[in-house]
Amino acid sequence: MACKVYIDGTFYDESEAKVSVFDHGLLYGDGVFEGIRAYNGKVFLCQEHIDRIYEGANYICINIPMTKKEMEKALYAALKENGLKDAYIRLIVTRGTGCLGLNPFKCVKPSIIIIASSIELYPPELYEQGLSIITSAVPAVNPEALNPRVKSLNYLNNILAKMEALNAGMFEAIMLNSQGNVAECTGDNIFIVKNGVVKTPPVTAGILEGCTRNALLKLAKDAGIPAQEVNLQRYDLYAADECFLTGTAAELIAVTKIDGRILGDGKPGPMTRKLLGMFRDLTKK
Ligand code: PMP
Repeated sequence: MACKVYIDGTFYDESEAKVSVFDHGLLYGDGVFEGIRAYNGKVFLCQEHIDRIYEGANYICINIPMTKKEMEKALYAALKENGLKDAYIRLIVTRGTGCLGLNPFKCVKPSIIIIASSIELYPPELYEQGLSIITSAVPAVNPEALNPRVKSLNYLNNILAKMEALNAGMFEAIMLNSQGNVAECTGDNIFIVKNGVVKTPPVTAGILEGCTRNALLKLAKDAGIPAQEVNLQRYDLYAADECFLTGTAAELIAVTKIDGRILGDGKPGPMTRKLLGMFRDLTKK
């Protein structure tokens, strides 16, 4: 279904929603974005996503030309304009229109784009069966170059890893950091469960600090489930009892095979199912 797209304060029909070819978001991937879900008319983890995009924009010296409160209103307006209660919202802030040169300071004004639509990342049956994934030969971006905490419009590294997965007949790939520790997947954070303890790489491993990841860690802690942010190696993945991925688009999905090694009994494990139930409840609040 065609949607109405918000660009700099105005809603346009999808076919009329256009940006300049001189926008540095297009020319250089100079910008930041968010993937956000709405459940039953409520923007899920709204503040967390808004805080993250403002932090990322600040890191790359983009001054978003609206307040956080106005941003929240714009997200709700995009839902309303499209008559959506359950949605996947793509929020994009680009450097704006400039010249054919890198200089960001020649760009006049950042552009804000909001697309309220839907997304299906993985086939529904894989939420029952679990995913088979691989570790990628493409390392995660070194945080000293461009910190992956910034959800920038530069996703080529992740796309290379995603292609490797798809070429191998899988939907996701795990990227390791330059130390050889587990960082994250191309569009999701990764968790394992070992002896009843839930573990996920720390932010210092060079990851996007996922809103779903953080919500899950809080859910686990509040429920008295031991949860740790610790460095993981490939060994830990293969030896895990359970594994699952989190992300706004993916929500929470079990991983049952990594690099050909079957985890546990090859089915989504009890802790993964328990956390999925808790996550679903949270989306209904
Ligand atoms: N890592 C990467 C590289 C991602 O693109 C995403 C999806 N935005 C995530 C992790 C998960 O983050 P979130 O839970 O905030 O969607």
